[in-house]
Amino acid sequence: MYRILQAYLRSFLAPDSGRNENLQARISGANARVESIFLCSLVSAVSLLVFFTSPLEAAWQPSLAVGIQTNGDSIDFVPTGGTAALSLRDEKKVLLKYPAAQIIHVKIQGNEICVNGKPVSSDVLNFKEEKEGVADSLRWSLKGKSYRGSLRITKQGAKLIVTNLIPTEDYLLGTVGEEMPPDWNAEALKAQVVAARTFALKNRKRHAREGYDLCNTTHCQVYGGVGAEHPSVEQAVKMTHGEVLTYQGKLIDAVFHTDSGGMTENSQNIWGSDVAYLAPAKEIQQKTMPWNLSIPEAKFIATLAKNGFSIGTLKRVELSPLVIGKEGKDRFLSGRVKAVKFIGTKGSVSISGNKLRDMFALRSTLFEMHLSRGSIGVQGYGWGHGLGLSQWGAQAFAKQGMKYDDILKHYYRNVAIKKLY
Ligand SMILES: [Zn+2]
Repeated sequence: MYRILQAYLRSFLAPDSGRNENLQARISGANARVESIFLCSLVSAVSLLVFFTSPLEAAWQPSLAVGIQTNGDSIDFVPTGGTAALSLRDEKKVLLKYPAAQIIHVKIQGNEICVNGKPVSSDVLNFKEEKEGVADSLRWSLKGKSYRGSLRITKQGAKLIVTNLIPTEDYLLGTVGEEMPPDWNAEALKAQVVAARTFALKNRKRHAREGYDLCNTTHCQVYGGVGAEHPSVEQAVKMTHGEVLTYQGKLIDAVFHTDSGGMTENSQNIWGSDVAYLAPAKEIQQKTMPWNLSIPEAKFIATLAKNGFSIGTLKRVELSPLVIGKEGKDRFLSGRVKAVKFIGTKGSVSISGNKLRDMFALRSTLFEMHLSRGSIGVQGYGWGHGLGLSQWGAQAFAKQGMKYDDILKHYYRNVAIKKLY
């Protein structure tokens, strides 16, 4: 029976298993627990029911390894609310204990890691709550932030990598409020939580080479630890516990952005690859979150030249007027720019909207562009790549009474919402 559960979990969490030791360890741990429960179930048929409703099983969830320091050769931190225990590599044996409020100083000296001045014969240190299974009260205070879970410190060459090992649901508590204002509508927050959970689990091997799953910046998702938690986010996490988005039975890449400006985009037009569930979705309002930019012509020409487009003095800029929901020769259906044509004294060039966004750090590719009085004027809308969930759009739908599951299905086409654990 436990094999069914094992296969179910693996089908979601370990499609290309083997590299994520942390997650594999969690799965093995879960299997061991499930196995022992299964053996008990042989004693009586009633305990089979217990198998499915066991608090142990219900409590299981994947753990994430979040990189919180990826540079430097030392780190100071303080355990609060509990006693920290140090063990080496994957060993269970506790090497040293540190009471609450004691500063722990870890530093590379010579070619060794030293803890509070004493050399430790290991490249991997694990700091955990002393007693496993006690109430989760221990926090780690470091670099002005506080973290749940446990810490893993790894020596990689001359660098100390500090990783926070944390159950997925706790990770979300410290993430969602950094990505969406906690005072937003509860349904928008729930939609963001499910997208963030799916994104984290789908991308959990993103930094496998560096020794952790996810970084704590916008590259993955901003993670601020305990200080970023908020009661409304906690509620949204609880209400959607374990829920993820799937397409054809697999976790989706639940990308999101700040504001689409009127209509989201399909992945082909941004990434150059077709992802079926990332398709254009209309917003309630159009031309939202307007922005303006004026680039002096000389600077514009110089940037073009730096990127290999030397066309002399600019004579004309060709781009059709912005219409959201109508595809044109130089615009996609969402109104985003396919390409702009620049005619200069020494030639002309057509540059894609995505390339222009990179070159001039534009908020989006949903814009008008004009040449006037020695400068290039750009009037745009929205913020971000325009793929998947639009956060301001989700907030607008939520305010109109739409529920989080419908919001998610609006932005991610033909997906299902599944309870993974
Ligand atoms: Zn990252």
